[in-house]
Formats: sequence, structure tokens, C-alpha cells
Amino acid sequence: MNVEELRRNFPDEASCRAFFESVIWPNGPVCPHCHGKKAWAFRSPKVRAGLYECADCSKQFTVTTKSAFHGTKLSLWIWLQAMYSLIFSSKGASSVFMAQWLGISQKSAWKMLHALRTIMAIHQSALPKLQGIVELDEKYLGGKPRYQPGVKHKRGRGTKKACIAVAVQRQGPVRATLVTGDSLSVLQPLIQKIVSTEAHLMSDELPAYRVIGQDFAAHETVRHGQKEFVRGPVHNNTAESYNALLERAKQGVYHWMSKRHLPLYTSEAAFRWNQRVPVTRTIQRGKHRGKVRTTMKPLPLLEQFKNLLRFAPACQIRRTKNSGIRHLPAAIPLFGL
Ligand SMILES: [Zn+2]
Repeated sequence: MNVEELRRNFPDEASCRAFFESVIWPNGPVCPHCHGKKAWAFRSPKVRAGLYECADCSKQFTVTTKSAFHGTKLSLWIWLQAMYSLIFSSKGASSVFMAQWLGISQKSAWKMLHALRTIMAIHQSALPKLQGIVELDEKYLGGKPRYQPGVKHKRGRGTKKACIAVAVQRQGPVRATLVTGDSLSVLQPLIQKIVSTEAHLMSDELPAYRVIGQDFAAHETVRHGQKEFVRGPVHNNTAESYNALLERAKQGVYHWMSKRHLPLYTSEAAFRWNQRVPVTRTIQRGKHRGKVRTTMKPLPLLEQFKNLLRFAPACQIRRTKNSGIRHLPAAIPLFGL
């Protein structure tokens, strides 16, 4: 979908609001104050658009009240465009770019993007356990140490860089989480939580994986130390692809991701990754003619918007006095989170 088609789908603010309401409230309005399901809409032009009054507690609300969009003064059309840009780009979008593109302040754009990334983090945590072949890897993210003549700095493991544990289902979703290190005590409970015990694990030779693998149906390793990266179907290159995306987002767009907000950036890259589905096709021409290939194709953009928006009420975001953001638990508990 290009920008023109986006505008055709959402010609005015009322159509954007109708879309938000249909995704967030598929069965009609739900009061975020008391969870009541009966509410009246105000139709008067004097009242702000989309305002409802709860029949049970008499409090007023809109589709954004007590959600990730709580208290926003920006139009929903601006939010949709921000979602479009964040989802459509391969590496993300910076708040500086977003501010210039949408004609808002950089601070507003930063808060907006973090609200969207928070929803993406919730989307990731609501994914079912990974199944089938699951590749494990770790990614170290951080800046290069200052150049010192004659000193060769260590890379990755054993440095002060942030460690991200990555688990990818082959031709399926990814889960990526910031962890305090790559020790067994850190990785084992995490992998048990996100990967099904029926899964076939594939990893590098990190000693922790050898122990972790014992709890799963099968576990194979590639010996990166001996320059072995693929042994038939045994590799963790899919996980490395996710790592590369994250690295490119850092190098090319964000330049700096604070450890504090890193879980949001990993979730953003994971959301884009997880909006693709495997598509199998038979090659028609060339020397590979007749072979069956499976590639990952992104879902239609409207579907991706829906996948994001339906998690918007699963968190509340408020501004702080020093222009930051504060996360509050969901007003209405959703999806068992
Ligand atoms: Zn109510």
C-alpha cells in the first residue's frame, strides 16, 4: 500500500476513528474505567469526536482513553501515518525524521514512536511458544570503544555491550529479549518460557545451550569456532538475519539505543519480522525450474495495522513532567497479560 492508497482508505479523521474503534472494540465500546459494555455515544457537534458515556459508571471515554494513545492531542490520521512509516520501513524511523515528515515536534514524535514500540513489545510477549526448528543466538549491541593505538578491543561476548537473546522459529516468528548475560541461569528460564519442549533447537557452541538443549526434543550445534556455519539443515543463520536487521537499524537509523529502551527497539524489529508469513511457490524458469521454494512475505498493511492496534489497550502510557513517558498496567486486562 502506498501513501495515496493509505489516504484513500482513510480519507478523513472520522474514518480513522471508525477503524480504531472497530479493531480495539470488535464487540462495541468497552468502558476503560469499569469495564462496562453499555455506553452511549454523544452525537452533538459541540462534543469532541468519538466521546462515549458509560451506562454503569457514568464516566466518559473515547477509544484512546487509558490505552497507549491516552491523552493524545494528535489526530488519529497522524498516528496512522506514524504506524505506516514504522511498519513499512525495513529498519525503523527516527523521531527526527518523523517530526519533520508529520510536522510535529521531535519530543512528540519520540513519545509517539515509543508508544507504538510499547504496543509492539506487548504483541511480542503475547506470541505463542515457538515450535518446530528453533534457532538460538545472542546479539551484542553497543558502540565501538574509543580507538587506542596498538590496542585490539574484544568484540561481543565479555564486553560491556548489551546482550540480546534471540530465538527464531524457522519460517516463523522471532522472540528477542534484552538479558543480563549469556549464562545458563539467565538463558535457561527464558528459553523454557518462550520455546515449546517439542522444538528442535539449533545453536552455536555456547556451553549454556548444551545444558538447555537437554530439556527439548532435539538440539544440534554448529561449530563457529571451527569456521563451520552450515551443516546441511543445521545452522542458526535465520537468527543471525534478525541480528543483522537490528544492527542495521542501529547503524543506519537510530545510531544510539539506550539499554533502558533497548527492549522496545528489539520488539520493533521483531514486530516487522513477525508480520510475514511463509509463501511456497514452484520456480518456473532457469536452472532451478520445478523446485519448490518457500519465502517469507509481509501481510497486507491493513492486517499489520490491526495486529498492532488490537494490543493498544493492553498498556497505558502517560507523559511525565520532564517530558518522558511512564508505563502503567492495562486498564482492562487483555490476553492474560
Ligand atoms: Zn464505566
